[in-house]
Amino acid sequence: MTDQSQPTREGGCLCGAIRYRITEDPIATVACHCGHCQTQSGGAFGLSMVLARYALEITSGKLRSFTIAADSGALKTGWFCGDCGTRIYNENARLPETYNLKPGTLDDTSWFTPVAHVWLAAKQPWTPIPDGVKKLDGNPM
Ligand SMILES: [Zn+2]
Ligand SMILES: [Zn+2]
Repeated sequence: MTDQSQPTREGGCLCGAIRYRITEDPIATVACHCGHCQTQSGGAFGLSMVLARYALEITSGKLRSFTIAADSGALKTGWFCGDCGTRIYNENARLPETYNLKPGTLDDTSWFTPVAHVWLAAKQPWTPIPDGVKKLDGNPM
């Protein structure tokens, strides 16, 4: 695909075992500064690209999962490559229509921007938040 008007909507894990594609525009991309996202990412925040579940197709590889209760009590399951551990997406049992893709796993990461930063109450004090985004101290739902 060399047509610049059609962004690449495929991605995968670090080792290459997992490949996926997304077949529809995402609903939104959000940066989450909660403690779970900091631990899972090993960084200062996590990114979630909210997608309709039917818009995510795993095209190769087998994912493994891990389930944990969020502070809200909602069960969240993270899906990752069983070989290299790269997190591909999360699902929330209370949100059965959507997945939260980890958009840093896309081959082309140039076309999305987080529209909101959430759980700012837990953010690292040295993490800057850009102007023009929605800002929430806690949970978006
Ligand atoms: Zn992998
Ligand atoms: Zn989070």
